[in-house]
Amino acid sequence: MNPEIRDALQCCPNLPSPPGIAMRIVELGRDPDVDITALLRLLSRDPALASRVLRASNSALYAQRRRSTNLRQALVVIGLNATMTLALSFSLAETLSGHSNAQQIMRFVWRRALISASAAQSLGQRQRQADLEELFLAALLQDLGILALDAALPELYEPVISSAQNHEDLVRLEREALGCDHGEAGSWLMAHWGLPERLAISARAVHDPGAVTVPPEMRTFLNCVLLGGQIADLFIGEEGEAGIKRIADNARQLLGMEHDAVESVLQEVAQMLPEVGTLYDTELISPRKAAGVLDQARDLLAERNLHLIQQVAAEQTKLREMERTTQHLRETASRDALTGLHNRRFFDDVLEGEFELATDKGWPLSIGFIDLDHFKRINDTRGHQVGDSVLARVAKTLARHLRQNDFIMRYGGEEFVALLPGTGTGAARAVFERLREAVANDTHDAPGDEQFQVTVSIGVATHNDAGHQAASAMDLVRLADKALYEAKNAGRNRVCAHAKTDC
Ligand code: GH3
Ligand code: MG
Ligand code: MG
Repeated sequence: MNPEIRDALQCCPNLPSPPGIAMRIVELGRDPDVDITALLRLLSRDPALASRVLRASNSALYAQRRRSTNLRQALVVIGLNATMTLALSFSLAETLSGHSNAQQIMRFVWRRALISASAAQSLGQRQRQADLEELFLAALLQDLGILALDAALPELYEPVISSAQNHEDLVRLEREALGCDHGEAGSWLMAHWGLPERLAISARAVHDPGAVTVPPEMRTFLNCVLLGGQIADLFIGEEGEAGIKRIADNARQLLGMEHDAVESVLQEVAQMLPEVGTLYDTELISPRKAAGVLDQARDLLAERNLHLIQQVAAEQTKLREMERTTQHLRETASRDALTGLHNRRFFDDVLEGEFELATDKGWPLSIGFIDLDHFKRINDTRGHQVGDSVLARVAKTLARHLRQNDFIMRYGGEEFVALLPGTGTGAARAVFERLREAVANDTHDAPGDEQFQVTVSIGVATHNDAGHQAASAMDLVRLADKALYEAKNAGRNRVCAHAKTDC
């Protein structure tokens, strides 16, 4: 903090100070062995405070079945910590509501404090925060710094606070005029009073999250305080739709709350306000204003909810389309355009997988390279286009004569490759013989009503059968290729298996 401001705060004789009882409650809170009797003894010194605590414990804020008729019962029902924090909040509330020079400032701070606190508690309940009273207190005291700055630097601060349009604007103007905001001043004051650290951290971090290290387990607590303040601004100010949108966005982002939960919180807060007002002897907002805010929130949140649903649906459609396109692209990338068969790339992928599987399981795997005989001549004598349609037709014939589990791919040029999982040497030979025959018996059309035939030579190799194991997938390919070479040499239009010398 700016040293001048700190000096002003430190030396200020009018600085708001907590009532003695609040200080004793803080001290008591530090004692790990504090017991009910000690707290009762303390509270009984201030009957007004004691009766407020009792009223609070019986109010809707602590919805419980059993009514407490004395403080001891209340203490048992709501617990030691809750009673202590509640007493502290009542006690400090006196500081908050009674020390300012300007009535207007006081009214602003006080209403914002109480509405923030109620909202933070309602949010905290949904977020399953353990210590709701402390959350109430942290939100209640988050603007304590306004009183500190007002007391310590009245001349400097008066123009700032009187020209601020709203809370956010106030923080901006404070930084411009004083080099610090009331969060910083409030945090300093709380530390000075010895209040629990979480309260001081909240006051500071709520305006300037980067200024202090917020322990991870305190983030939700802090976000409840922050959002509590924004809800208070919505009820007090004239923010209207913009305020509701901000709250809805922040609740979603910071607390993961859906719009309908935000609406419930706003409703709950509006319901709580008269009761909280009574407990702290003040009217917070008129019922008409509260109803107006709620109506507006209901409409806007419902509309935004619908919009969100539509947005999610549109995103899902887009995602599905993208998946389809990717699938289509993957498919086209692995297919050959001329024949429609899978291409070399696909073959490389499949071969590795099938080879591993066959090796693992001890299953046979056969591969056959199928090459058109003297295909160059067809191109040369009948033209490239006829050559193309021959390739496409041969591809169809090959595919038609294979089983569902087999793979047939265009290896490149006028060469095809078939992969037959689970097929041993003898069966593979029969399959390829059938393919050879089917191609040889088929007729192709050439321009001018002429028909012609083509043949193929096939080289076969088998892994895991007849006592033969290939060393690798590449080894198997090499053997099949060698057998194809032999088939060509032996006169074409035939099937050769690598292990056999006769084709
Ligand atoms: P062999 O019996 O020894 O295999 O003789 P071949 O003529 O079939 O073999 P070669 O490797 O000498 O020639 C292959 C020819 O296949 C050459 C090339 O122009 C042709 N070819 C490769 N891809 C295509 C294609 O997509 N369309 C057409 N029309 N021809 C192709
Ligand atoms: Mg060739
Ligand atoms: Mg050829």
